[in-house]
Amino acid sequence: MNEEGLRVAGMTGMDVLSVSQYEPAMLREVFEVAQRMRSIVKERGGADILRGRVLAALFYEPSTRTSASFIAAMQRLGGSVIPITQGVQFSSVSKGESLPDTIRTLEQYADVIVLRHPEVGSAREAAAAASVPVINAGDGSGEHPTQALLDLFTIHDELGRLDGLHVAMVGDLRFGRTVHSLTRLLAQFDVKLTFVSPEILRLPLDLMNEARDAGLAVRETYNVADVIGDVDVLYVTRVQKERFTDLAQYEELKSFYVITPELMKEARDEMIVMHPLPRVGEISPDVDSDPRAAYFRQVQNGMFVRMALLASVLPPHGGRSDEA
Ligand code: ASP
Repeated sequence: MNEEGLRVAGMTGMDVLSVSQYEPAMLREVFEVAQRMRSIVKERGGADILRGRVLAALFYEPSTRTSASFIAAMQRLGGSVIPITQGVQFSSVSKGESLPDTIRTLEQYADVIVLRHPEVGSAREAAAAASVPVINAGDGSGEHPTQALLDLFTIHDELGRLDGLHVAMVGDLRFGRTVHSLTRLLAQFDVKLTFVSPEILRLPLDLMNEARDAGLAVRETYNVADVIGDVDVLYVTRVQKERFTDLAQYEELKSFYVITPELMKEARDEMIVMHPLPRVGEISPDVDSDPRAAYFRQVQNGMFVRMALLASVLPPHGGRSDEA
């Protein structure tokens, strides 16, 4: 870490493509920097360490939180943003330009590119074409690494530990990329995982095997009432409508789970409920006033973690690298 303590050493120029890049030691450093970012935001709104740096935010799929939090993170660190979000349909992308060409163009203007794209593997393809860091903000049903980093940060922040926890993931475990990334990250710790989903939305087998091979106690059920009394973290997700070809099937599944105050009576006092958001009915708004509802605190943590990542992958002022 440099003198200011606002960067993680060894990350300059790095892409953020998958959570597999992060081991516990680096995670700890990212989280320490994120904590400092939180203090700085609370004390003085931000820091000017990315002045003159430009981020291109290229979103081929809808986003509210991820795009807004990257923009906020960049601006709070004094940098600026080229947002290519709602306008993708009016850009050269709609003329049939390839992803590598769009990336090679944007890197002429920007120092870092944040990409959300409907295809699994698109972030990797973009990174192969780019000479500036590429941050994966969701590649189809593949991964969403920055979400998983903020999820893990939130769990640690709220409960003070990771080892020994029982985490249940609920909902669309098949298409939910945040679940995929978080499962991979949690597999590095001594946690117990329960996957709660309807049969058709079960976690992909390769991920289940990764968790088992890592030595984790893993269990599956379709009934949330089976586990709610025993979990430290209830991670709820929406059914991913955009991944369904049969919308009638989506309609059948979308309200499979609803977390209500009645259900929360069964949960422990010191557990938390998380959700990557947007929710579309999986958690009743009546749960929001429950102190265990951590999902809006989770949103704010996203900005601190993304500030830490941006400050770390971008070279410090003067274009120097902080690496030897
Ligand atoms: N916002 C998260 C994502 O982009 C979760 C979701 O959309 O359900 O994956």
